[in-house]
Amino acid sequence: MDDTHLMLIDPHIHMVSRTTDDYEAMAAAGIVAVIEPSFWQGQPRTEAGTFKDYFSSLIGWERFRASQFGIRHYCTIGLNAKEANNEPLAEQVMDMLPLFATKEGVVAIGEIGYDDQTPLEDKYFRLQLELAKELNLPVQIHTPHRDKKKGTLRSMDVCEEHGLDPTRVIIDHNNEETVQEVLNRGYWAAFTIYPKTKMGNERMVEIVKKYGHTRIMIDSSADWGVSDPLAVPKTARLMLQRGISMESVKMTCYQNALTAYGQSGQIKEEHWLNPAEVDQTRLFEGNSVLRGQTPRTGKSEIIR
Ligand SMILES: [Zn+2]
Repeated sequence: MDDTHLMLIDPHIHMVSRTTDDYEAMAAAGIVAVIEPSFWQGQPRTEAGTFKDYFSSLIGWERFRASQFGIRHYCTIGLNAKEANNEPLAEQVMDMLPLFATKEGVVAIGEIGYDDQTPLEDKYFRLQLELAKELNLPVQIHTPHRDKKKGTLRSMDVCEEHGLDPTRVIIDHNNEETVQEVLNRGYWAAFTIYPKTKMGNERMVEIVKKYGHTRIMIDSSADWGVSDPLAVPKTARLMLQRGISMESVKMTCYQNALTAYGQSGQIKEEHWLNPAEVDQTRLFEGNSVLRGQTPRTGKSEIIR
């Protein structure tokens, strides 16, 4: 088994909550690109301006920070389900979405969908599906952790009601109860590997053994909660140890994410195959990731 040159993508990770140590460990483990969905931040925001600054950081500072460790950073833009329940605020966020969703490196509208499956969540989910159609962007769907099966089926029903092509929709946070129907209906099925609970690496191995690698992808959803930014590399290596083929590992941990989100035209393999060299002497609006350390430059340290 030679996994030295494994290239991996984590298509769902909230890097604003992670450290530079995480970036270094992820690059060393083979992660070449990440997709950071817009999400809530643990406590509800009270002002539209905080959304504006958050979206700006996803396309600005965080993208720069990743580049300083040899990782390409992309994001999705959207109003998350939890905060869709604050209608006056949601209205203001909806107004700013088109501006941010059309920026460089934005690969989908997301993560959107249902949390408690309230009428307001439904309203803003539908409005954002229409926005995705208008901007010709894929959609990344967060399925609820409570009432998952019902919420997942409902998300797909609503997508179809709005005429979305399932091949442009990634349904995330699947489990054994939802995967078959998601695949049968033609959607991409993403799985979040949660450490010590819910969907663990071992269960993921069994899912790939049973369902194969077509339209299945793996992510960490790592954020400010208990989560593992190395979930994708760890699962990839466990799959190889358990006898899953290198082809299936590449499809589920790299290629399918690239193909699905590549439909945006914003994420391309050449971005990391012919990368700009890591250059930690660079600044972003006058700011560096370093605190007195010697800047690292050149390609050597990110070659795997
Ligand atoms: Zn997320």
